[in-house]
Amino acid sequence: MNLFEHLEKHQYGEVHVRRDAASGLMAIVAIHDTRLGPSLGGCRFIPYAHEELALIDALRLARGMTYKAAITGLPLGGGKSVIMRPAKAFDRAALFSAFGRFVDGLGGRYITAEDSGTSVEDMITIRSQTKHVTGLPPKDGGGGDPSPLTALGVRRGIEACVKHVYGRDLSGIRVAIQGVGHVGYYLAKELHALGAKLTISDIDASRTNRVREEFGATVVPNDQIFAQDVDVLAPCALGAILDDASLPQLRVKIVAGAANNQLAEARDGEALHARGIVYAPDYAINAGGLVNVHAEHHGNQTGKGFDAPAAREKVLAIHDTILEIVERAKATNVPSYRVSDLIVEERLAKVAP
Ligand code: NAD
Repeated sequence: MNLFEHLEKHQYGEVHVRRDAASGLMAIVAIHDTRLGPSLGGCRFIPYAHEELALIDALRLARGMTYKAAITGLPLGGGKSVIMRPAKAFDRAALFSAFGRFVDGLGGRYITAEDSGTSVEDMITIRSQTKHVTGLPPKDGGGGDPSPLTALGVRRGIEACVKHVYGRDLSGIRVAIQGVGHVGYYLAKELHALGAKLTISDIDASRTNRVREEFGATVVPNDQIFAQDVDVLAPCALGAILDDASLPQLRVKIVAGAANNQLAEARDGEALHARGIVYAPDYAINAGGLVNVHAEHHGNQTGKGFDAPAAREKVLAIHDTILEIVERAKATNVPSYRVSDLIVEERLAKVAP
């Protein structure tokens, strides 16, 4: 593995590695940028075929966190950690305690949180070793499930796109939601309250049943969600769903949803733009969850606790962020996913290295 080649490719300066023989911990913390504040990002705990893949995952994800925090105007940088899940039996508490000590040793340059393969219980274990952790349960000073705030931000982003395209509010606007899990459910609730008409799909029938019963949504098969004759598509299930297969099916004027990494490739962002479909960049519209964990961490650091009204205020402002992006995309004829990156890069360039 050529370590520095990877760092250069992902524009990095700082990666930390820890091996703890007693617990079997093999962990990487990638710190992409701390110009706007300490780096914050989840800890991923999954099996990796080899360490190079773990490193690439950390580098890729931490960079995304820099962009998400900066576009949202949070005083945070981008970081991410990966723990290689041991193939053999292991002591989970010992492993996450060792990881907590690793994070603590970084002195607050990296704040960890939940991600794929880690749980609230793991965060509690980490908390026993360091204060640089967020995403704890409310009884331990945490902000609780971030999904409602994420959904609120997505609703605000959809409102901005609808205003931009149709010059109106959400009443009567038809929205297709792919995936009505945590975020999708709360998004349906938000949209229904404002008079939007919902079409939904999910691989889990218990989830679609609930949204149909509570919000009068029309349920369609998964393979028909992209082809719906509606105004907005809100992807809230999986990443990489905007691709050569789905794009030709789209009849919407707006794509705006919670899922991470919706564009399979950058060229799919170009294709949306070329077709005049307004796309709300995923990391900008789904930042409500990050606002939630930041508010929790800030409240714990200052001793003031979780400031729910301030967090909500910040999430409501996602409307203006998305509006700025889509208006600039139109004015400059640059795809919105790229405009969002440019806004972040302009902000970072103003801060001393
Ligand atoms: P979730 O697992 O609770 O919900 C996802 C839903 O999608 C599930 O109900 C699942 O059955 C469904 N699904 C899976 N494959 C599907 C398919 N092929 N077609 C239709 N439905 C399918 O996850 P979530 O927390 O609601 O997150 C949804 C997306 O939003 C993810 O991409 C996640 O990374 C992103 N996101 C979530 C948050 C948050 O606060 N939870 C924050 C930012 C981004």
